[in-house]
Amino acid sequence: MKVQRTRSQEKVLQFLKQLNHEISAQGLYVELRQADIPLGLATVYRALEALKLSGAVQARVLGNGETLYSQAQSDRHHLTCLQCGTSLPLNDADCPVHALEDNLRKSAHFEIYYHTLEFFGLCSPCQQQSED
Ligand SMILES: [Zn+2]
Ligand SMILES: [Zn+2]
Repeated sequence: MKVQRTRSQEKVLQFLKQLNHEISAQGLYVELRQADIPLGLATVYRALEALKLSGAVQARVLGNGETLYSQAQSDRHHLTCLQCGTSLPLNDADCPVHALEDNLRKSAHFEIYYHTLEFFGLCSPCQQQSED
């Protein structure tokens, strides 16, 4: 799908590609400033929202309500701790969802950009704490 991007959207997308990890809008705003790309916070939010809707950027909401953005990749899988918010990426070599994704694409006539799979619970340090 061809989408027309604004210059600030291009800057944000390029930066996320280089960054290669998830970041909050606030964090991205700070990093952009440090890299001498001074975009306003509202512009960063708008650019991220537009990029998200076009499928170029992926957003993930953490347990604490914070949203993290990253360049869209085909798959994302995480183990997320409800207590401390630690979120571990999983190796997605054996993703069980791909067949389902193909089916949905056909049966629901839905253009799927990506999927996420997230498991919630307690990480091992937090399990030990709750035993005390
Ligand atoms: Zn934890
Ligand atoms: Zn997957």
